[in-house]
Amino acid sequence: MSGREPATDQLVNYTKAKQVSGNGGVLSTGHGAPVGVKTAIQTVGPRGPALLQDVSFIDEMSHFDRERIPERVVHAKGAGAFGYFEVTHDISQYCSAKVFDTIGKRTPIAVRFSTVGGESGSADTARDPRGFAVKFYTEDGIWDLVGNNTPIFFIRDPTLFPSFIHTQKRNPATHLKDPDMFWDFLSLRPESMHQVLFLFGDRGTPDGYRHMNGYGSHTFKIINSSGVPHYVKFHYKTDQKIKNLPVEKANELASTDPDYSIRDLYNAIEKKEFPTWTMYIQVMTFPQAESCKFNPFDLTKIWPQKDYPLIPVGKLCLDRNPKNYFAEVEQIAFSPSHMVPGIEPSPDKMLQGRLFSYADTHRHRLGANYLQLPVNCPFRTNGPKNYQRDGPQCYTDNQGGAPNYFPNSFSGPLECPRAARSNIKERVSGDVERYDSGQSEDNYSQATVFWQKVLDEEAKKRLANNIIDHLKGAAGFLQDRAVKNFSNVDVDLGNRLRTGLAEFKRHHSNL
Ligand code: NDP
Repeated sequence: MSGREPATDQLVNYTKAKQVSGNGGVLSTGHGAPVGVKTAIQTVGPRGPALLQDVSFIDEMSHFDRERIPERVVHAKGAGAFGYFEVTHDISQYCSAKVFDTIGKRTPIAVRFSTVGGESGSADTARDPRGFAVKFYTEDGIWDLVGNNTPIFFIRDPTLFPSFIHTQKRNPATHLKDPDMFWDFLSLRPESMHQVLFLFGDRGTPDGYRHMNGYGSHTFKIINSSGVPHYVKFHYKTDQKIKNLPVEKANELASTDPDYSIRDLYNAIEKKEFPTWTMYIQVMTFPQAESCKFNPFDLTKIWPQKDYPLIPVGKLCLDRNPKNYFAEVEQIAFSPSHMVPGIEPSPDKMLQGRLFSYADTHRHRLGANYLQLPVNCPFRTNGPKNYQRDGPQCYTDNQGGAPNYFPNSFSGPLECPRAARSNIKERVSGDVERYDSGQSEDNYSQATVFWQKVLDEEAKKRLANNIIDHLKGAAGFLQDRAVKNFSNVDVDLGNRLRTGLAEFKRHHSNL
């Protein structure tokens, strides 16, 4: 059909393909029995009542009643696509992971983009960070880089995460978004200031998912084949160029096309305009980490690019849309704990918290065997082969007759010497304590650099206006506390906000 976008033509294209390869086949129940009549239930006489023996109706209805799985608590609204990662530069001096071992090597990937705070029906163009999670299906198992479109985050201690997310979601009494909750929490936790500036800056409303960067955000550890470790940050920069939506356009699209970003990605891929990103790493030696002026494991901080230059690694390319959204996107399950030999966690506390929480969520949403789902399984390995068995919805052969205990004398899977860490020296010590870093760490200096050095005057104006537009809804004492924190970033920023909020109040008291 001419003049329609690929997303609108999906069904037309589906049926065209079917006409080539045969019709849709015989309608059946879930247990595979052919169904003769699909337009009427069985009743006693034409006006009813209905019969319990109409098992094909009960089969359909009871499945329908169970269609929804729990929505993700965060990152509920998203889009996914598939493609490959290609190595363009040799980083074997830093990392022995097989995914990086040969220039030109391609590894299949899946990517899920998302907004963070909204429900699965919310608008794609909301001011919010964006999730940018990449699943690498490597020969050594799944490696998930579960990042965002920002290199930093609002908090640095994972125990604050549930509270932080509650404040971005709905008030438990009113079921409304609540500016008091939002600004109360953020102004009590000044470590959020750096990310708050990114959120209210131009990159807070990216133009779809193709025109934004991705960042692994956390510090990770990579290890080379001689056992030498480095700390690392991952960056994947859009080759489509950064493009952001002006506030008015983002607001308009929220009502006229709330699925704007999903549509944009789907159509681009169908039109073979495959989006790509260039992957870089920043590396830090262990001695550098010891002497670093800031805490390199603090998720509210970047590593300055002049001190830790970007090293090119490869390209991410997305060239296939999901064939079925639920199967391949709603059920895709990323976890920072999915790592492969050569890639390990750093002490980053937020990362350590996520190592637990993501897989825990999937076991709740999808069940203990979520890694057996086709989109999640390590299909490029000869496995998994292990001693895990049973559990709900086990639909592989459950590893057949292989022994289910270790050690054993009956040909069970053996340990992999390559994955053992025996040649890596690492020592940690310290007092066991709860270290609340809210006030003791540096919360402002990088936010100050961002305001003073990265933004031009027009970008500063837009950023201040965006903050004012949101902060004006919060209670007066919260406005004052937030403005005080913004003044700690830069007095000029604080003054702009104080003046803007006062003008808003004056204008409204005159109405
Ligand atoms: P650089 O001048 O080398 O980097 C500045 C970076 O700022 C750019 O490379 C770009 O990141 C990013 N940037 C530009 N405009 C915006 C925006 N509106 N919102 C968010 N990020 C933006 O300096 P440094 O590396 O020393 O960093 C200086 C400051 O820049 C940091 O304190 C931080 O606030 C910010 N920044 C740094 C990043 C980094 O990885 N070093 C990444 C993002 C922000 P990119 O090239 O990734 O697009």
